[in-house]
Parts: sequence; structure tokens; C-alpha cells
Amino acid sequence: MDLRIKVFLRKNPYDTSRVSPHFVAAARENLRFHARRCPEYAKLLASFDFDPDSLKTEDDLPRIPPLPTLFLKRHKLLSVPEEKIVLRAASSGTSGARSALAFDAASYRLGAGALVRLFGYLGLISAVPANYVVLSYPPGEGMELGAAKTALGATRFAPALSRIYALRRDGGGYAPDIEGVAAALSRFAKEPFPVRFTGFPAYLYALCGMMEACGMALKLPRGSLALLGGGFKGMDADAQALRPLAERALGLPRERIFEFFSAAEHPLAYYKCKNGHFHIPAYSRVYIRGADGISVLPDGEAGLLSFVSPLVTSMPLLSLMTDDVAVRSAGGCGCGIESPYFALLGRAGGSGVVTCAANAAQTLAGGEGGDKRV
Ligand SMILES: [Zn+2]
Repeated sequence: MDLRIKVFLRKNPYDTSRVSPHFVAAARENLRFHARRCPEYAKLLASFDFDPDSLKTEDDLPRIPPLPTLFLKRHKLLSVPEEKIVLRAASSGTSGARSALAFDAASYRLGAGALVRLFGYLGLISAVPANYVVLSYPPGEGMELGAAKTALGATRFAPALSRIYALRRDGGGYAPDIEGVAAALSRFAKEPFPVRFTGFPAYLYALCGMMEACGMALKLPRGSLALLGGGFKGMDADAQALRPLAERALGLPRERIFEFFSAAEHPLAYYKCKNGHFHIPAYSRVYIRGADGISVLPDGEAGLLSFVSPLVTSMPLLSLMTDDVAVRSAGGCGCGIESPYFALLGRAGGSGVVTCAANAAQTLAGGEGGDKRV
């Protein structure tokens, strides 16, 4: 049996009590698989003197050498033949560099299954049809942005009466269609069905801001909600203002806005609770790493957000380090979810930390600016 099933398909995603031995076993199986199937990854493990068989307990998990997401932007690591790939996605790169991610059927099913259980736990799955406003790109040829696929995927949790998109094709590119969305919302507000927003929070902020500037104030039908992910890219003031603004412009109660953290390289959803904390589910471990990209910092100290999860077999994404800056806490949030959590402090872009993450990636690549390791 695929050891991952006992980790990912639990009814309560935050019930960590019985998962740990299964998690470690699934991580070891995943690690051995990638070490066998992906020569570049095997070299990387060897360069860190890391033996997959030395992974025995929960305490060993943070020792798995973390792959910087920046490294994936320049190197394609694949552990299965191309014909096994069923889904491709690109990470969103503000600097233009994007990772090409590739997922096999079993990994995709487990990830989707984990999302269904999380959404079920949060009460977000409904049989009542909804009008969707997708705050992202329309689907189509060449649209491989992971965040766009997630925004579209989130329209499957209540039957769709219609889907409109905040971005429309404009010549060779895309342009925002805030006016078109606002007009559609005026129609939807008169219908008996709830409206569901999915996609980027910054677009919902822009939409509500424009509506308020034009003196538009709607009262969306009961049951309306927003499922948002992708962040504000450091615009904290906007993140604070979104909920009251959406309440005024759309009549959307603030507790009906659900925010999640996810990444194309790490396609698991982290729910942001009412206290602003991203809770860590049983199928993932979060570590905050220091400037060297390896050492694990104590809870409460800010550093680079890193994950360990055995979700993916097609690429060695088991231990991953992002360029997001975060702090971790062991629990005691007070929101009702008992699991540990992290809080995002922003993107490392522009600060010294990004240099560390970039250097770590460079080091792994054996390029300039670091010791040759691979
Ligand atoms: Zn909480």
C-alpha cells in the first residue's frame, strides 16, 4: 500500500496524534524513491552526506537537505518518466523566473484528496449552486500558472452556475476586467444563489476599492464567501483593510473570507485562522531555517519558511525551502485548531535573506557565489 494514504486521507486534517509514525515511514519511502530515480537528487543528498536510511524518527525530518525553490527555477528534477506526468504547473515568479512543476496521477489524487478533506473540515463544500468570480486568469492554452489552476480548482467545491474571470485576454496578454466583474456582481446580487470568489486577495481588494470609489455597495446573497490564496506580496496594509472593505462593498461578512497559503512547488493548502495564523496540517512539517539555509531556528525566530511533506513522487519536493520569511509556533493559537502554525512576515525579496536563499540555490547548482557541492 502507498504509505502516504494514511498520512493524507485523514478526516480531520489537524489530527496529528496518530500520524507521526506513518509520516516518517512515508517520508523515508519518498526519499528512497527519489534517491533511486533522480540522479541529480542522489548527488545532492550525497553532497550533504545524507543517507536516506538514517531517517528514522520525527527528529530526523528537518535533517533532510532542503531544496530551495529558487534552485527549481533553474533545474528540472524528475523522478518518473515524462509519460507519467498528468499535470504541469508553473510557479509565479515576480522576477520572471518560474519553476516548471510536473505531477503524476497518484500525487495529484492525494493532493486533491487532502484539499477535499480540509475544505470539508472547514465547512466549505456545498451542494448549493453558486456563481463564481475567479480572481485570476481564464483557463486556456498555455495557462500553466499554478495559482491560476488552484483558483479554478477551487470552483469545484459547490456546483458552478457560472464563472467569470477578473482577467481577460487582451491581445497577446491579459488585462483586468474590474468593471465587467462589478457589473456581473450587480446581477448576481439579485439572484438567490451565493457568490463564491476564488483566487488572488489583491484582486478582491482592487475590486472592492473600485466599487467603493464608485459608490457601489451590494449585499451578496446569504452563503456567499471568498476562498483566497496568493497573498498580498508584502502589502500588509491592504491585507488588513480587505475584510472591512469587502463587508462594505459586497456585504460579505469578514468571517466568510477564507485565506490559504500554498505554493506551486508545495501544493498543499494552509488555512489562515481568525488570528492570522497558517495552521500546519498532519501531512506536513514546517521548519524555519537560518540564513545558511540548513540550520533550523527555534520557534519564535524569523527565518526562511521550509516544508517537509511526502506528497509528490514525480519530483523530489520532499524537503523544500521557500524565500518567504516566517515564524513558527508550536501551538496555543486559541482559535480552536490545536496544531502548530506559522505566520508570514513577507517575501524575502530585496532583503538580505533573499541573497541567502539565492546563494543556497547557487551553491547547490555549483555556480558562482558558493562552494561546489553537486
Ligand atoms: Zn489559529
